[in-house]
Amino acid sequence: MGIHTMPVPTPFAVGRINCYLIDTEPLTLIDAGPRSDQSLAELDIHINDTGHRVEDIELIVATHQHIDHIGLIKTVAERSGAEVAALDKSVDRLATFAAGSDSEDDLAVSLMLRHGVSEDIANALRNLSDSYRQWGDAVEVTMPLTEGDHLELADRKLKILHRPGHSPSDTVFWDEERRMAFGGDHLLSHISSNPLISRPLDGSPGRTRSLVNYNASMRETQKMPIDLMLSGHGDPITDHVGLIDKRFASQERRLEKIHGILAERPRTAHAVAEAIWGNVAVTQAFLTLSEVIGHLDILMDDGRVAEREEDDRLIYEVIE
Ligand SMILES: [Zn+2]
Repeated sequence: MGIHTMPVPTPFAVGRINCYLIDTEPLTLIDAGPRSDQSLAELDIHINDTGHRVEDIELIVATHQHIDHIGLIKTVAERSGAEVAALDKSVDRLATFAAGSDSEDDLAVSLMLRHGVSEDIANALRNLSDSYRQWGDAVEVTMPLTEGDHLELADRKLKILHRPGHSPSDTVFWDEERRMAFGGDHLLSHISSNPLISRPLDGSPGRTRSLVNYNASMRETQKMPIDLMLSGHGDPITDHVGLIDKRFASQERRLEKIHGILAERPRTAHAVAEAIWGNVAVTQAFLTLSEVIGHLDILMDDGRVAEREEDDRLIYEVIE
């Protein structure tokens, strides 16, 4: 198939990230891994094993803005002179990595405080997020990609599909002829992709409705005729239709669980997260809060839950 899968280590719980080398013209790398000496050394070995060198890479493609995928892009682009392709809407966010990360951290802290996380935990998580930044880097995109257009390589055409949800910039690259796709973290075979709340890509204030967006994206992807999706982590997906059904079913169960918790008594989103995950809701406060807020968005859209303010915090209660 001319595609090499190259797992590269990351400092994150998700484990290795899959980078892919498409052996064609231009010689194309999909995602580059986080910025670390070890990741770069392993990427070098993988690429050498294919008979090429990092210096030969002609095009680097980013699937989304997360640092385990984009951290090494600048380094590889500097060594190789490669073009860098990414979704047009993500160009500013990728170029301004430090300011973008600051803005994401500001959002995370203000959301945590508003939703019931204590100030000391919110600050501790901000410091942690700060320390993870060393694995990221700014990315200068030289080839902005537009939704619906095609990325033309010598032996294949990849359709560019914006599929926000896990991050605002998730992009799927679909090879219609071969019925395959590069999916980034849009879908993962072994775990559900966290619908992490972020800043909107257009720079507007506020937050994304990440789970609502993710559901719309999954519905689009579910319609596509694909036999193989190569993901950012874990094994290839060979039944995306069944996997998406499974993701929707577990989301349905969680919606009912959260509704039940709020039916016991009204509470903050963080208190809901603690009722579900216990101490994990503290150590991973923003991740679990993103999950709960995502589900609350849906419960409120459905008219089943309402939000009210009490002592600067948002309280959720069942109305049906
Ligand atoms: Zn990832």
